[in-house]
Amino acid sequence: MIIPSGTIDTGFDRLHIWHPYASVTDPLPVWPVRRAFEVFLELEDGRMLVDGMSSWWSAIHGYNHPVLNDALTTQLQQMSHVMFGGLTHEPAVTLAKLLCGLVPDALEKVFFSDSGSVSIEVAIKMAIQYWVSLGRPEKKILLTVRSGYHGDTFAAMSVCDPVTGMHSLFRGIMPEQYFAEAPACRFDEPCGDGDIADLAMKLERHRHEIAAVIIEPVVQGAGGMRFYSPQYLSRLRELCDRFDALLIFDEIATGFGRTGKMFALEHAAVVPDIMCVGKALTGGYMTLAATLTTGRVADGICSGEPGLFMHGPTFMANPLACATACASIRLLESYDWQESVKRIESGLRLGLDPCRSCSWVEDVRVLGAIGVVELRNPVDMASIQKAFVERGVWVRPFGKLVYLMPPFIIHDAELGVLTRAVCDVVHSIG
Ligand SMILES: *Cc1c(COP(=O)(O)O)cnc(C)c1O
Repeated sequence: MIIPSGTIDTGFDRLHIWHPYASVTDPLPVWPVRRAFEVFLELEDGRMLVDGMSSWWSAIHGYNHPVLNDALTTQLQQMSHVMFGGLTHEPAVTLAKLLCGLVPDALEKVFFSDSGSVSIEVAIKMAIQYWVSLGRPEKKILLTVRSGYHGDTFAAMSVCDPVTGMHSLFRGIMPEQYFAEAPACRFDEPCGDGDIADLAMKLERHRHEIAAVIIEPVVQGAGGMRFYSPQYLSRLRELCDRFDALLIFDEIATGFGRTGKMFALEHAAVVPDIMCVGKALTGGYMTLAATLTTGRVADGICSGEPGLFMHGPTFMANPLACATACASIRLLESYDWQESVKRIESGLRLGLDPCRSCSWVEDVRVLGAIGVVELRNPVDMASIQKAFVERGVWVRPFGKLVYLMPPFIIHDAELGVLTRAVCDVVHSIG
């Protein structure tokens, strides 16, 4: 299909449409995309950009994948949506089976929702309702670590990093939670008592009010792109058991292979009480998320008043999204994705290494298909974004972080284009 150029009204966009974390009165430029396929974004003017972002962790198989297209259009012929209250359907049941087969056995109950943030709201409500059911309603505060990111709705925002999450704006309206120091032990380092001492102290001191600890396992994403020791999670599990707190893992960014394991929790073999997945769940096609929990938590919730879990989105378990998610998971399982992620990992290590020679680079780190160049100072978004587009790549830094997380299908040549662009641009800003 040929779409004529010049049909995307960017002038109207500029005046009327909010973009993520943006001003609508003095907006930064946005680039009109005409088409996306494999690892390429084709701009309206015909320029092709190699995608280094997977549309925020989600497009793991690249764009316009025939298998996912087929799953979606096949489902479309059956039904695009029906309410999930009182009804069920094959795509939801199959997806729940697939998910239960991938996560630790104990996580056996699945709640579908429409976005990552909502799945976090659901996780938090589950934790609070669990303790109410058990006759301990005072356990309603969350404990988390700094530098986290869990979404933009109110409860999700309340457990994001207080500084980057702009908590000062919403003080008094947003629930106030407890924060411990971010894990300081790096991915390949052991984690000692000292590394979790602050969290342990806060959990012990406030154990009568803490419902759950929520954390992104191993990789802290949008709150700082930090990788920490899996041993931290084993210690955290012990502490949660000792002080009667549920443990919530937010695998929305890390899920479906990004860190080299299907889920980041596999680096530590730790089982949480509640786990959230989203982003890559549908291979980046549709918005869908899920909150999984154990029989124990589900029994707790459902044995108290009112005997129900109090949540139910209109588009819960949307069949188009569920069918695409089933196809995406099967597609991932149909090839040696671990090998692809390993190959990307070495490409990123090799390709980003030259950034280390810049005095304004603080750190270069790679884990799985995630490569991060941390600068000493925040970048100028307007100019850096333009510099990347001019080099034929789509890379969107934030704050001090320039990072890559390409689709798993990327070839070495395209990966080289991405890493060379990052090194060139990073060198040029000094
Ligand atoms: C993106 C993200 C969320 C929020 O998901 P949305 O679909 O944007 O609401 C929550 N947690 C983590 C770790 C994320 O990366």
